[in-house]
Amino acid sequence: MPTTPEKLSKYEKIEAFVRGFKLSSLTYKRVMHLLNEEMNNGLRANSNHLADIKMFPTFVRALPDGSEKGKFLALDLGGTNFRVLMVVINERDVDIQSQTYLIPQRIMLGTGVQLFDHIADCICRFIRDHDLKNVRLPLGFTFSFPCKQEGLAKARLSKWTKGFRCEGVVNEDICYLLHEAMKRKNTTSVEVEVVAVVNDAVGTLMSAAHNDRNCEIGLILGTGCNACYMESLENVGLWEGDYEHPAQVLINTEWGAFGDNGCLDFIRTEYDRELDTYSINPGKQIYEKMISGMYMGEIVRLALERLSMEGLLFESADRDCELFHRGRFFTKYVSEIESDHDEFFRNTKQVLDEIGVTNYTSEDCKIVKYICTLVSARAAFLSSAGLATVINKLNKPEMTIAVDGSLYRFHPRFHNLMTLKIQELVNHGLKFKLQLSHDGSGKGAALVAAVAMRLRDIKENQCPA
Ligand code: ADP
Ligand code: MG
Repeated sequence: MPTTPEKLSKYEKIEAFVRGFKLSSLTYKRVMHLLNEEMNNGLRANSNHLADIKMFPTFVRALPDGSEKGKFLALDLGGTNFRVLMVVINERDVDIQSQTYLIPQRIMLGTGVQLFDHIADCICRFIRDHDLKNVRLPLGFTFSFPCKQEGLAKARLSKWTKGFRCEGVVNEDICYLLHEAMKRKNTTSVEVEVVAVVNDAVGTLMSAAHNDRNCEIGLILGTGCNACYMESLENVGLWEGDYEHPAQVLINTEWGAFGDNGCLDFIRTEYDRELDTYSINPGKQIYEKMISGMYMGEIVRLALERLSMEGLLFESADRDCELFHRGRFFTKYVSEIESDHDEFFRNTKQVLDEIGVTNYTSEDCKIVKYICTLVSARAAFLSSAGLATVINKLNKPEMTIAVDGSLYRFHPRFHNLMTLKIQELVNHGLKFKLQLSHDGSGKGAALVAAVAMRLRDIKENQCPA
């Protein structure tokens, strides 16, 4: 006899609201197939203008070889944190001193002039605090937003993503904007020259490749989600530079925009749609919005809110508490909740207390944890499908993937979930290792700057002015 809705158990009812988070292996394979097609569209000159995944060539042609040396400044503007760093590289040894500065939301949503003036202020403060006045230091800038690079130190912003929307920056060269802001500071004792702009995925790969020659892919799981990899020039229809050795270039995929044309609609849930509707960039960064740290907590919150509205969770919760407010359930809560391993639910209770949910039961805690595991596993599996697509494309017997970002770093299960899923999805016989990249954006940007300075020295010595 078919079960009528009234006869369904509470758990069956809950399942009906969250089953969209559970995707089969076949579905992940379909996602891989679509991603591969979209990446190829991005690489081809005749389809790139229509492609969502822009596959930007970075002008980084070689990975570090361990002979790099020097003292560099680096900037890391990633979405959540802004840091200024001093990086001293002496072959394999790297010493880093850094300072994190806050970017207030009024600046994130203000004008480009305000943003770059703020960055220039932070640089000057750092230089003063670290006694670097009157020292001319080359600077590597990790700027983690989609940019069309026209050279190693020339990058035009394509669009803002994550929480940023500063007026007057799209289509502009961000190095020029930074140099102009430094000029406005009108100080002669601080001299910086941007010699390389990279994004954080590239920095992460460079940093890990400094110690591991097998490293070919960089992945970010932080505020956003992005990946880069080394591609043969013969596959890069977009390439306009020279074809000298090495005939390869790092591609910044900007795959966060995968799905913007609707091709991932078949896996999106009602929660993904609602999150997107109320985001600052509706319809954009669809793949990223199902994965990264800026959004995962909110997806969990929307599912919890729905279950609560349906009378399946928190029966007597106060409707005014944080749980019912957009953006108040942070992704770090997901990590904390999933770190509970017994029936006491110590972390889960602490989170619920923090967001003002009262009168919850142990069963509520169990359900909350269950929703977190579903949403985080889908995120880990979707990013695994992305990596497996690139691993299969490169088709090398052994490969290291450098990963950075707080989501990967702090979530208790991400690494293991990803390792299992990638194993399932890659072509038979391909071996891989996911490696946490320490301070990818800082060290990586300095390494790109170091390589650029080394090449410049060689050139100047070859043709004296
Ligand atoms: P960025 O992307 O700016 O370089 P991070 O790599 O630190 O910065 O990532 C910040 C993102 O990571 C935020 O969206 C935040 O929600 C998420 N995050 C911070 N702490 C944790 C944690 N403990 N577990 C999971 N995600 C976290
Ligand atoms: Mg970062």
